[in-house]
Amino acid sequence: MAIHEECGVFGIYGSKDCAGDVYYGLFSLQHRGQESCGIATTSLADNEFDVKCVKGMGLVSDVLSKDKIQSLTGDMAIGHVRYSTSGASVPENAQPIVSHYSKGTISIAHNGNLTNAQELKSELVDKGAIFHTTTDSEVIAYLIALKRATTPSVEEAVKEVMGLIKGGYALLVMSPRKLIAARDPFGLKPLVMGMLDGAYIFCSETCALEAVGADFIRDVNPGEIIVVEDGNVKSIDSGIKRGMKKCVFEYIYFARPDSVIDGIAVADARREAGRILARKHPCDCDIVIGVPESGIDAALGFAAESGIPYEKGFVKNSYVGRTFIKPSQEQRKQAVKIKLNPISSVVKGKRVVIIDDSIVRGNTIADQIHLLRNAGATEVHVRISSPPFLHPCYYGTDVPDEEHLIACTHTIPEICSSIGADSLGYLEPADLNDMLGGDDFRYCDACFTGNYPER
Ligand code: 5GP
Ligand code: MG
Repeated sequence: MAIHEECGVFGIYGSKDCAGDVYYGLFSLQHRGQESCGIATTSLADNEFDVKCVKGMGLVSDVLSKDKIQSLTGDMAIGHVRYSTSGASVPENAQPIVSHYSKGTISIAHNGNLTNAQELKSELVDKGAIFHTTTDSEVIAYLIALKRATTPSVEEAVKEVMGLIKGGYALLVMSPRKLIAARDPFGLKPLVMGMLDGAYIFCSETCALEAVGADFIRDVNPGEIIVVEDGNVKSIDSGIKRGMKKCVFEYIYFARPDSVIDGIAVADARREAGRILARKHPCDCDIVIGVPESGIDAALGFAAESGIPYEKGFVKNSYVGRTFIKPSQEQRKQAVKIKLNPISSVVKGKRVVIIDDSIVRGNTIADQIHLLRNAGATEVHVRISSPPFLHPCYYGTDVPDEEHLIACTHTIPEICSSIGADSLGYLEPADLNDMLGGDDFRYCDACFTGNYPER
């Protein structure tokens, strides 16, 4: 099974309260990863090149206490929130990764998955390299240190490393004097640039810029390296031309609806997905409800297009932490009800259309249908604002191997009866281009089509 990394990154150059800024930035990227988090800071004026780093397992609010934030002095910082879905849920794998090498200290925070990390790592290990973690990120750090020995600058080293690594990445590199941001040549992972009172920020999503009160400058381009040094910004072309293939699942599920990725508002994309569903899979029903949070915007679009009223069908408990998400099989049913509970007075006696963003194994939606029927819904029709998941993701999104994907082993009518729905409708892959407002297919939809941009 592929190792999945779904992460968020946030870095800032030239802020007196750099750790505080990164803290709030990570807070608003918490949806991108709840397993571990961390912040590394350094002082640009300091000749010691000292890097302070606090990281650990858990949520931002748990790991990064007030005392810890205060101890993270400096004016440049990078931070990371991490969620891995297979093995390797250990403190050593928390980021940022801080390494010492010939030119001082290098810290990196990375979102994404390399498709050739194991090959690269084996080559290094065969030559005697040792690694402390099982992350792709450490391979990147090692390669940058290695390339730096034969290149004039760390950004040149990053450029050379981009010629070696394959896959999806949004990368932040902090050297003693520079903050460097790099986005993979397909733009698979999102990365934006912003500014706060003269300080430059790079982060995974625009919602984090808004959280700290920063202005959005622009998206980092696929294959682009941006360096901030002495307060000046320089863009370097990695020279690797691939053409934009951003991850479409960011719009469907992963990103926050208040973020704008590569010029397209996530909320708009989700509403449009709902509108398309309403046209392609109409339904004679009394109310439309969405599964919080990622199904809500699509449900609003479905309601607007169909004229069927949108209702709030569920209450979501916002205080359920990540540790609650993987209970034992016996506890699972109970856990579901604690996380999400239908509002009986809304659904009772009603024919309900329920919208969710995706079906992976089919457990979530089956549970919700069951809860809705118990709460008195007379019919439950399911509409999914993405196509069936048929292929694993090698770039870092949590799509498991085929054997675990219900759509690989069942037809749509079989899925419908297995989850206990009265009807089921999905989007088709071709609809995704319309969902993005006619985006000329500048996105990766490999998890739905098997058309991988590169393996
Ligand atoms: P299932 O229960 O079918 O296995 O999973 C479907 C549910 O998982 C949906 O409610 C969807 O919102 C959520 N989901 C889809 N993709 C991901 C992912 O990459 N990570 C996490 N944590 N949840 C996901
Ligand atoms: Mg969900």
